[in-house]
Formats: sequence, structure tokens, C-alpha cells
Amino acid sequence: MNREGLTIRNVRKSFGSFQALNNIAIDIPKGKFTCLLGPSGCGKTTLLRIISGLERPDSGTVLLGGRDITMLPAAKRNFGIVFQSYALFPNLTVAANIAYGLKGKMPRRDVEAKLDEMLRLIDLEGIRDRYPSQLSGGQQQRVALARAVAMSPEVLLLDEPLSALDAKVRVKLREELCLLQQRLGITTVMVTHDQEEALTMADRIIVMDHGLVVQTGTPQEVYDRPSTPFVADFIGAINFFPEHAADKQLYAMRPEHIIIAPDGAVDTADGSRSFRAIIQHIEFRGSFYRISLLPISDHGGKAASAVTVDVSAQAAQQHDLRRNTV
Ligand code: ATP
Repeated sequence: MNREGLTIRNVRKSFGSFQALNNIAIDIPKGKFTCLLGPSGCGKTTLLRIISGLERPDSGTVLLGGRDITMLPAAKRNFGIVFQSYALFPNLTVAANIAYGLKGKMPRRDVEAKLDEMLRLIDLEGIRDRYPSQLSGGQQQRVALARAVAMSPEVLLLDEPLSALDAKVRVKLREELCLLQQRLGITTVMVTHDQEEALTMADRIIVMDHGLVVQTGTPQEVYDRPSTPFVADFIGAINFFPEHAADKQLYAMRPEHIIIAPDGAVDTADGSRSFRAIIQHIEFRGSFYRISLLPISDHGGKAASAVTVDVSAQAAQQHDLRRNTV
């Protein structure tokens, strides 16, 4: 029983005849960073909106610290929300945007102190008097984050907060967001369709597909022991070998577990599996090579169709790949 964090019990939600969420049951631990990860349309934003109170489920309950908050309006939940689209007040300065929700909730002197703390914490001191139109996307999102965190929310909800930013800023903000979350120890739920973002940021990943939760676990667990081929394929690069396994099982291997070796130089004494093939094509992709192979049967016949495998650059470089056989 998750007495301290968020608990989602048997939540269902349909829009007309379309079922967006089908019997969702998850625990979101207190003080941790949880990612809702899945492809577009899988229902993750709908679930986040139900957690936030902006949307009501058709059935099921949302509990916070064991208390049923399903019907509690969003304004009455002390939750901070940050959207992809910053949503800052364009006519207010950075400082006024951050202080907006604090006014009337605490004495003026405390508002000033809190504001200073936020500007320092999120490194916005140099731009406190600027307007949103004078800020970069990354700066605007940091202001949105500061505004959400300033309210000392019980839960921080983030809906694709980094998606609109360019790659470099995104990676930088990823780190800042993780550090902030750890420093404040705030229960955080982030929606993302970016598996790399989820793997690098989350303490816990909830993988969704077609309105269902398909796996829950640490980044290591979902990467190393995916529960379905969908999870294996969606998270990280993976190679499937359906028709080359004698026992007709579907084998899936990460690029870093594949070794390419010249014909006859393969050592399978440790129980690892191998097959022979001719290399047809090699593409360098930075950290890995994408290699197109034409498998050869034990009798020397070539397979009709090629297999594409991703092999880590390190493993691939151990041998001269252009020597033609594996
Ligand atoms: P994305 O990453 O594209 O935002 P998502 O996983 O967050 O996808 P949701 O926004 O939760 O997905 O939407 C899930 C499904 O429910 C989608 O097929 C969407 O079209 C549908 N949907 C969401 N909100 C509504 C609504 N208000 N009315 C009708 N259909 C909706």
C-alpha cells in the first residue's frame, strides 16, 4: 500500500466511444521522479490531467497519501503544473510571473524572500526584470518551473516540459530539472514520449500503450527486462531475431550484447548463440553501426531476406567488418 505517494486505482476514461484509459492501476512513490512514457495517443496526458484534477475519470480513484482526491478540483490540490508551452503571463516580468501565485497567500515580505530563493535556485537572478518575449525557450521554461515550485506544491506535474526546446538546451534542462527535483525531494510525474529522457531522468518509468500500463520499473529494469516486445522496441535500440532461432522463440538483443566476428572465430562456449551471415551494408550511426546481414544456413544456403542489426561501435570495431562474414 502506497500510503504516502499517489495511488491510481482502476481508472478508466473514454472520449465518446474511444477508450483513452483502460483500468489504470499504479503507485507513484512520494519524493521520487516518475515518468509516464509511451507513444503519441497512448493516454499519458489524459492520465496526467486526471492526476491534476483538470479531468475527471469515468470510474476509479486517485489517492494522495491514502486520501481520495478524485473529485477535488484542480485549484484545491496543491499541485504545480508545467506544460510544454510555458504558459507565462506575457505582460508580467520574470519576477512577477514567479510571484503571481504567492500573492495573497503569504505576507509581502515572505513573497519577496520566496521570490529571491526561487530566482537563485533556478538561476534566473540576471533576468528577473525581463518579459517573456525577451527570453529564450529554455529561460521561459525555467521561469515556468520556478513559478510552479514557488508554491511548494505537494506534487509537481510536468507535461512534455522539454519537447519544445532544441537538443542542447533540452539536455541541459534535463540535468537542472533532476537536480532541482532531488534537492526539493518533491513527488514528480513527467509525461514524455522520449525514451532517452525517461531513461536518464526517472527513478521509475511507467510505460503505456493504447490506454494500458504495459510495464512499471526502474530505468534499468525496463531496459534490461522489458515485459513485451513493444517495450523492448520502444525503449532503447533492440534487435529481434524471430526466424533464426531454432526453438521459434522471439529473441531480442541490445546492440551492446552483439559481437560480430569473422567466420570461424566465434566462441560460443559460454552458451551464447551465433549465426553465420554475409554483411551486405554498413551504416555508421555514431554510437552504433546499423548492419544489414544475409543469414547463411548450416548447409550454406542464403536466406531470402536480410536482417538488420544494430551493433555497438565498440563491438563492431573489434573486427574488420568489411571482411564479409559474421
Ligand atoms: P500525445 O503525446 O500525442 O499528447 P498522449 O499519450 O498524451 O499523446 P492523450 O493526449 O492522453 O495521449 O490522448 C489519448 C487519446 O485520447 C488520443 O487518441 C486523443 O485523441 C484522445 N483524446 C484526448 N483528449 C480528448 C478529448 N478531449 N476529446 C476527444 N478525444 C480525446
